[in-house]
Amino acid sequence: MDEHSPEVATAIEAAVKASELCQKIRKDLVGGESILKSDRSPVTIADYGSQAILCKLIRERFPHDTIVAEEDSKELRRPDRSKILGQVTDYVNTFIPTASSKEVCSWIDFSSNAITERFWTLDPIDGTKGFLRADQYAIALALIENKVVTLGILACPNLYVDMQQPLGEKGCLFVAVKGKGSIQMDLKGVSKRTISVSKIKNSSEATMTESVEPDHADHLFHQRLAKKLNISKPSLRMDSQAKYGMVARGEVTLYLRVPSPSEPGYRENIWDHAAGSIIAEEAGGMVTDILGHPLDFSCGIKMEKNHGVLVSNGILHDMVLKAIHM
Ligand code: AMP
Ligand code: MG
Repeated sequence: MDEHSPEVATAIEAAVKASELCQKIRKDLVGGESILKSDRSPVTIADYGSQAILCKLIRERFPHDTIVAEEDSKELRRPDRSKILGQVTDYVNTFIPTASSKEVCSWIDFSSNAITERFWTLDPIDGTKGFLRADQYAIALALIENKVVTLGILACPNLYVDMQQPLGEKGCLFVAVKGKGSIQMDLKGVSKRTISVSKIKNSSEATMTESVEPDHADHLFHQRLAKKLNISKPSLRMDSQAKYGMVARGEVTLYLRVPSPSEPGYRENIWDHAAGSIIAEEAGGMVTDILGHPLDFSCGIKMEKNHGVLVSNGILHDMVLKAIHM
């Protein structure tokens, strides 16, 4: 696969449309309506709308591919959710005018839990809590072939384009193809530049990024680790896989995700890491779990074989792994 492959074009087209839909909803959002799923995580009309658009396009272009995505339409089909389903359909109609509510639900349900030889995994909105706070979120899409991530796309509508200008223009699209490097595009998928990780060798010059949510990572452990590594700059807290993009474009050196003590048995979802991991790796970075094992996206929707995540510029990886276990 290369940047001209139909998979890449489709993934970019789908992510651009989905991010336009999410931004539209974000702009209109009053009060931040959301449904709480059985695991207490929030899901919004944007999550559903984004997944419907992404799944429809992928299934249309690649009818034989499996899709493993975060949402399903079970909650949405409940009679007492009809208002929300109507809103989802209205927003999808701005892209696909003829779509009915029934079709929207059926597109969302193109997703299954089947890990096949070749499958797509997608998070229609990664960092829903960030989305609700008008903070960072990402549309994350990856293609996995024979257990290897071969394509990753991250659309980050709220992430500033130029690291020298954090108050400047916003909206980035990160794209990585296995063996072909990582690029950053604008949110229309037009302009592009090659990105690479930082060349920092000395950990005291490094910077770290971590989740905003204290339940998603052990912030105290991260702080102690930073001290061991003589990292003096405070950690940058950011929602979603935008953190992978930050390491990939060399803006931060490390992304740490040591499991939170509030949920020690938590296992990461494949759609929360597949796209981000290839973008960091193809930019020259290294991605493992906190035991140094490669991320394994092949055992189900949960990454049962992995414990936490460490993303680095590669140069500092072993040093950080040692410090974690010191
Ligand atoms: P982040 O924005 O990096 O904090 O990650 C958001 C993702 O964290 C969501 O998509 C959830 O799937 C995932 N998540 C939910 N609970 C946990 C947890 N206890 N530990 C780690 N990640 C979690
Ligand atoms: Mg997510």
